[in-house]
Amino acid sequence: MRAVGVHPDVVVVTSRIWQTNATALRSGGEVLLIDSPYFPDELEALPALLRQVGFEPNALFATHADYDHVLGPLAFPGLPLGVGDHTMERIRTSPGEAQRELRDEDARNYVSREKPLALGSLQSLPVPGYLELGEIELELHVADGHTSDGTALLVRPYGVIVVGDYLSDVEIPWISPGGGLDVYRATLARLAPLVEAAETVIPGHGLPHTRDVALRLLDEDLDYLDGLAEGDRRIPKGRDTARQREIHAENLARVS
Ligand SMILES: [Zn+2]
Repeated sequence: MRAVGVHPDVVVVTSRIWQTNATALRSGGEVLLIDSPYFPDELEALPALLRQVGFEPNALFATHADYDHVLGPLAFPGLPLGVGDHTMERIRTSPGEAQRELRDEDARNYVSREKPLALGSLQSLPVPGYLELGEIELELHVADGHTSDGTALLVRPYGVIVVGDYLSDVEIPWISPGGGLDVYRATLARLAPLVEAAETVIPGHGLPHTRDVALRLLDEDLDYLDGLAEGDRRIPKGRDTARQREIHAENLARVS
């Protein structure tokens, strides 16, 4: 697990697996932690790691309901977990989904956990909408298409946007169950001006990017999705790995 400051009040902690990012935002004595690392030892070490750099979360947020993004309550039990209203809807209509998928993934990786995942007290927030953090206001924007839910958080005063599972340098656009090709394209179109307004773009997986790198990835992703609609087999060059070919096959099966 590594921690990188991308702004004096923003630190990004990256898991050893899938380069999953947890982002801590600070303002006026309040700290919001968005998403989570995966391994039990990472979750256990997270509070101390963040404290060392001056971040003590008092609230959690998940960009979407996929199991790898909602593990914050395992590191910070008792803190409320904020989610967009469409994420809340997904959790309500598929109760226990994150718990089941986490159990399966743990079994695949031979990972054992002392305590099962409990999402704790969920707080549903309207998206699009705003969320107050100390002295600043975060903008919540709809980012669906990867799944049926998804929230991107634009922190305009810091020039930072946390986009969830979009604009990754390690993962191609992934239309997973609940997601959709046209919805995904609409999200990229919605993200474009928000990325233009930011200096740093933090994806759910992979390195935080500069605006220019994120805009290049956005173009690549739109090209990829256009090709996918036509049954094309092109995977963006820098991301053509065995795992991404599996995701590509899943995408082809879902859109055909
Ligand atoms: Zn993810």
